[in-house]
Amino acid sequence: MADRVGFIGVGRMGGPMARRLLARGYELVIRDVDDAAVLPFKGQAGVMVCGSPREVAARTPVVLLSLPVPATLDEVALGAEGLAAAAERPVVIDLSTVGVRAARRVAAALGAAGFGYLDAPVSGGVSGAEKGTLAVMVSGDPTLFATWKPLLTVIGKNVFYVGAEPGQAQAMKLANNMLSATALVATAEAMAVAAKAGIPPAVALDILNVSSGRNSATQEKFPRAVVTGTFDFGFLLKLMLKDVKLFEELAEDLGVPTIVAAAVVNVWRIGVTQGLGARDLTAIVQLYERWAGVQIRASASATATDETPGREG
Ligand code: NAD
Repeated sequence: MADRVGFIGVGRMGGPMARRLLARGYELVIRDVDDAAVLPFKGQAGVMVCGSPREVAARTPVVLLSLPVPATLDEVALGAEGLAAAAERPVVIDLSTVGVRAARRVAAALGAAGFGYLDAPVSGGVSGAEKGTLAVMVSGDPTLFATWKPLLTVIGKNVFYVGAEPGQAQAMKLANNMLSATALVATAEAMAVAAKAGIPPAVALDILNVSSGRNSATQEKFPRAVVTGTFDFGFLLKLMLKDVKLFEELAEDLGVPTIVAAAVVNVWRIGVTQGLGARDLTAIVQLYERWAGVQIRASASATATDETPGREG
């Protein structure tokens, strides 16, 4: 039983994390509302698929969650068929990004019901989840953390203890994602201007990546998913809007002015209002491509699109 792990939400991040645990010899008890997410696990040795979080809680000493939004966490933890509806009381470790308010609310409700709870959001994307190189930020009871740290090291090379207050790890994760979201839109702006000035995108990235403007977008997202034209980095655009909004909410709760984040959240909001919410987050660059009338591709010299003023014909 000790080597059995529950996993609820086996999507883009949860799927590869669960696969790493299985490869490491843990038995898995999984639950996802999407059959397509469960399909790769069906029939695999050591995997049991359940119909509700309650059933998962009844079968495992620890349950990991990787869920999209705060409302999903509420439903999975506290809903009619949720974890708290079980008679058993496993430890719950939430790997999702749900923000500080939700983490506190669920930690209090599950704590009152007798569950141990850690919030443990991750960073490093789908490739980090596949390779087991995620950063895992954990807050909650230090004894619980010490007990479950070995399990978390299977999914994350860098496991950090942030503090004893539930939600502190969420605050840290939101600070990270505000920077990551800012880096991507700022890089889109800079690359669109460089392309419009006639600089081939591949040359611009080579220069940026050995210069002071380098960041996670110039080093990873643009080379892998923008200049290739694939736009498939592995994170839904609407989930990045969720993260920067949660950052804004936290800053407001703490009374901290957020001049940059206010601008950044609006760019992501425009992305969603322009119909890009269900696309990969790198599709945000396509807004800038449209506005500048350029395409930022490796094959391009500075490619002008049909919309480029003054370049037609
Ligand atoms: P995803 O949408 O691919 O995966 C979420 C999974 O949860 C889906 O398979 C979905 O069907 C499932 N789900 C939804 N409601 C459910 C319910 N009620 N019960 C059970 N399962 C349910 O999203 P993701 O990209 O894997 O992100 C998961 C979390 O990790 C999010 O909070 C996200 O912000 C965070 N995150 C994502 C990345 C990334 O690069 N994708 C990186 C770090 C953190």
